[in-house]
Amino acid sequence: MDEIEHVDIAVIGAGLGGAAAAALLLNAGFSVHTFEQAPEFSRLGAGIHVGPNVMKIFREIGLEQRLSEIGSHPDFWFSRDGNTGEYLSKIPLGDYGRKEYGASYITIHRGDLHAEQINILPKDKIHFDHRLTGIEERDTDVLLTFANGNRIAAKIVVGADGINSMIRETLLGVEKPRYSGWVGHRALVNMDKLKSTGIDFEPCVKWWWEASRHIMAYATKGDGSEYYYVTGVPADTWDHDTSFVDSSRAEMEAIFGGSHPMVQALIDATEEVTKWPFWNRDPMNLWSRGRLVMLGDACHPMRPHMAQGACMAIEDAAVLTRALSITGLTDYASAFKTYESTRIKRATKVQRISNANTWLKQPEDPAWVYGYDPMTAELS
Ligand code: FAD
Repeated sequence: MDEIEHVDIAVIGAGLGGAAAAALLLNAGFSVHTFEQAPEFSRLGAGIHVGPNVMKIFREIGLEQRLSEIGSHPDFWFSRDGNTGEYLSKIPLGDYGRKEYGASYITIHRGDLHAEQINILPKDKIHFDHRLTGIEERDTDVLLTFANGNRIAAKIVVGADGINSMIRETLLGVEKPRYSGWVGHRALVNMDKLKSTGIDFEPCVKWWWEASRHIMAYATKGDGSEYYYVTGVPADTWDHDTSFVDSSRAEMEAIFGGSHPMVQALIDATEEVTKWPFWNRDPMNLWSRGRLVMLGDACHPMRPHMAQGACMAIEDAAVLTRALSITGLTDYASAFKTYESTRIKRATKVQRISNANTWLKQPEDPAWVYGYDPMTAELS
């Protein structure tokens, strides 16, 4: 029989949430091993916003400065009418955000962010090519079985394994996520074509049309050398087995053609564009049981329209670490209770607003999201 290795904390999934949990728990002095199904990560063409709420966590992890150097620092989040270009809102970020919210608001390439998060983890504590296939809850630990045959016994297991989480399945039963009725197109545009228009592209702007169709466009590098957009478009069905499919400039033209000249320039500069379905689940009331606990998309997936899905996963990681630091590993049950009751209200509120796709369309005060400090906020 294969030997069973013993660890204190097993984090399942080294996505943006799991990698943050691993770094924070290690910093707090816990013995943590992370298991990721992918053999490695690649730099897929996608951007991400990181709010000041989460840059404060990256300060704790030791990545704030590095991410600030790589990422773009928009002075505003603009919302604009997709046809006329009229400004619907101008939400101040930049210096205002640093002063009011206590950290920068950045937009960055998702792969660059993730690579920084993975690179700071000790190589012997992160295990790629480990797809979790079995969970056996025992009296004193949880026995984890992986597709490669390895078996690990962990005192607690953090399910950071995304929307199709196996930990969620164990806690709540098998249930496929629901197709939300929306797809998103993602593209890094051709910068030569974009620059040749002579137009000054705003570093962070969301273009809106009727029925909440939109294009969120932003820079993913501080030097302005990369520009990205992601759309939100209603679509009755998703008939593909893959997580995304290729789209085309023609499809973008068919959906958004004839809009404001800046939008048209974005479409014209599109060479490769992919199309992704947005999946969803209803809010869950159970985030942990016994020695199993979940974070991020495993327990609160959402449509991405508030640009806070990963931010909530990373906030979860910070609060879970703080709760465990107070109780110690032995009293994980109290820590999980504190974690869940501290997080559920905020994460569910963000999930609801994100799904509604109303965030910052009109002038509003985002301080409750960006001003929050997960490292010091009261634990309940
Ligand atoms: P994931 O990132 O899904 O990571 C889960 C990890 O677990 C993966 O690496 C996976 O391989 C691994 N895994 C799964 N099953 C197993 C298994 N059985 N064994 C081992 N490993 C396993 N959020 C923001 O904050 N800002 C944004 O601007 C933003 N933009 C977005 C744009 C789009 C188009 C989309 C779709 C999402 C966006 N999000 C954004 C949301 C964000 O991507 C997710 O909320 C975030 O990735 C969730 O992180 P996670 O760590 O919980 O899960």
